[in-house]
Amino acid sequence: MIEVKNLQKSFGKLEILKGIDLNIHKGEVVVVIGPSGSGKSTFLRCLNLLEQPTGGEISFEGQSITAKKHDINVTREKMGMVFQQFNLFPHKSVLQNIMLAPLKVRKQQASEAEKIATELLRTVGLEDKRDAYPAQLSGGQKQRIAIARALAMQPHVMLFDEPTSALDPEMVGEVLEVMKQLAVDGMTMVIVTHEMGFAREVGDRILFMDGGVIVEQGTPAEVFGNPKHARTRDFLSKVL
Ligand code: ADP
Ligand code: MG
Repeated sequence: MIEVKNLQKSFGKLEILKGIDLNIHKGEVVVVIGPSGSGKSTFLRCLNLLEQPTGGEISFEGQSITAKKHDINVTREKMGMVFQQFNLFPHKSVLQNIMLAPLKVRKQQASEAEKIATELLRTVGLEDKRDAYPAQLSGGQKQRIAIARALAMQPHVMLFDEPTSALDPEMVGEVLEVMKQLAVDGMTMVIVTHEMGFAREVGDRILFMDGGVIVEQGTPAEVFGNPKHARTRDFLSKVL
């Protein structure tokens, strides 16, 4: 579904991504771990060109999205993204937040958009919050709405950048539970997280990034159970 070849990204003279090669298959759950500053967010943001790569190539569903003639907006609609900060529209209700992009971008009928939004609210367990405003929600609820909002565009892949890092500890579980259900339902997902228990349980593949490269990758059993590189072992010894 996604093919990344020798992806590079620099900010000025600062080289952040130093040649990343990766294929992500349909239905796969790829979890990216690694120390702060290793380039995880930059990598994720390059996948939907929120950051413009300075080298290499990215293809999505067989089409090069880094080619000059490619219209990235078409591809972005198929890639849902959830950030650490929820970025909900504060002056819109929960239902309006979820319906906005389908109405404006997809030109869906209001009745259709509302039907999908209602189903998604059920998926994330927040049907009773449809008329609430973001300020009336807890952090965990806001993040579940942000996930529902991304899903409303019926994306083919979901990108998550530390979706639980801004949450109080007691709210982490409810968000991870929604993500786990998505994985079980077959969604293709790329997830940057520090939740190692979740990574181990839900990830099909773990990527360990450090210094702008993928140092090591494998199944959770391989990476957590038998890390090959000293840098991976060192990182895991600090977070596990
Ligand atoms: P991670 O998500 O693994 O913590 P990031 O991808 O956010 O790492 O950042 C990697 C490095 O890139 C950091 O040193 C950060 O300061 C730098 N960086 C990220 N975005 C920018 C930017 N827009 N301009 C300059 N430097 C940046
Ligand atoms: Mg980051």
